Amino acid sequence: MERIVIDGAHVVTVSGQEFPGGHVVVEGNRITAVGPGPAPTGPGRVVDGRGCLLTPGLVNTHHHLYQWVTRGLAVDHTLFEWLTTLYPVWAGIDEHAVHTGATGALATLALSGCTTSTDHHYVFPREGGDVLGAEIRAAAEVGLRFHPTRGSMDLGRSAGGLPPDHVVEDRDAILAASADAVARWHDPAPDSMLRIALAPCSPFSVTGDLMRESAELARDRGVRLHTHLAETADEEDFCRERFGCSPTEYVAGLGWTGPDVWFAHTVHLDDDAVKAIGASGTGVAHCPTSNGRLGAGIARLRDLADAGARVGLGVDGAASNEGTNLLEEVKHAVLFARAVGGPTALSVRAALELGTLGGATVLGREAEIGSIEPGKLADLALWRLDGLGHAGIADPVAALVLGAAPPLERLLVNGRTVVERDRVVTVDTGAVAERCAAVHRDLVAKAG
Ligand code: ZN
Repeated sequence: MERIVIDGAHVVTVSGQEFPGGHVVVEGNRITAVGPGPAPTGPGRVVDGRGCLLTPGLVNTHHHLYQWVTRGLAVDHTLFEWLTTLYPVWAGIDEHAVHTGATGALATLALSGCTTSTDHHYVFPREGGDVLGAEIRAAAEVGLRFHPTRGSMDLGRSAGGLPPDHVVEDRDAILAASADAVARWHDPAPDSMLRIALAPCSPFSVTGDLMRESAELARDRGVRLHTHLAETADEEDFCRERFGCSPTEYVAGLGWTGPDVWFAHTVHLDDDAVKAIGASGTGVAHCPTSNGRLGAGIARLRDLADAGARVGLGVDGAASNEGTNLLEEVKHAVLFARAVGGPTALSVRAALELGTLGGATVLGREAEIGSIEPGKLADLALWRLDGLGHAGIADPVAALVLGAAPPLERLLVNGRTVVERDRVVTVDTGAVAERCAAVHRDLVAKAG
């Protein structure tokens, strides 16, 4: 079992302790010691952490990885306009496109300090092959802990939904594929690198029956539930018109609340919705950059957290967040919260906690990841803060959260090095970039 000692870094455990010039010891895939001063002597490799900040790896709670190869389209549009532009492009994806896009997006996430990511995949073209398997392969190759969801859409345009009919699936086929994905891939082990959740896409692209039956299936199989909710005012109008209630009331009536459920966005919530989400311990993936990019609004982050919601951060799909930088979400969470709630709405340490332990809690992994504690899995980010961009900022957490994104000295996932000196060591990012550009050109040409 390999032993790695990180010595001399400013260690922020996110579980209430900070050790300037502290140490962390990793044995195999677990943290075995953390504390002040140098590590007790012993065998193994020593990583010099002087000049660096050591944090838990960041946890991304919302993404659409395949969108990495459809970035930069409909850049000045509303969500509904953007979706109707992109659906025909997305209809052309296949295993190769998804594997390529997911590899590019996951490698980029790793460079932003992310060690665990979910993915919400909901486009399954009939001729596309095993696209969920393709992104699972990509995550294993890059080396990130992965929580993909088997997403779905069954409400096409002819039935009053937003997506064109040819990108939606039949409900029975979706439920069978969902059960199959759980049986094939879901690993409930405490050090799991791969867990599945079920994720009908949004109120305007799936039927109520699919929402209800997906919830029953997920609970029967012991997996979590995820969907988009209350992202835009258009969605609020859609739900009021079609169902006579708010999006939150609509999904609550279908069994979609509780600690095993997490929603992406929740921007447009009234006080009752905030209370309902909080009281039920439902999770929220706050995606400030995407919400700004699409002009959706600013989520009531402080109110949700105060009400008891489990809150984490997400980059959202790369077609609405071309950067896919999870550290940037930590910064944007602070800026957005303060812009609407004043200077005390969110501290830099509370924001770092949202991006780490908060995300772990949303995914039900708070006992295993999200903080630096003996016994937890070795998912760690070592940030270099002694260069031109950060040297002289007295508070290292402020330097990380408010400063420019610092060089990533090392990223460990499950005890394995994925990034070293700002370079992904598991895949050839230059070759991946070339493949991504080629796939993008093909998809846009095919959509004609
Ligand atoms: Zn999304």
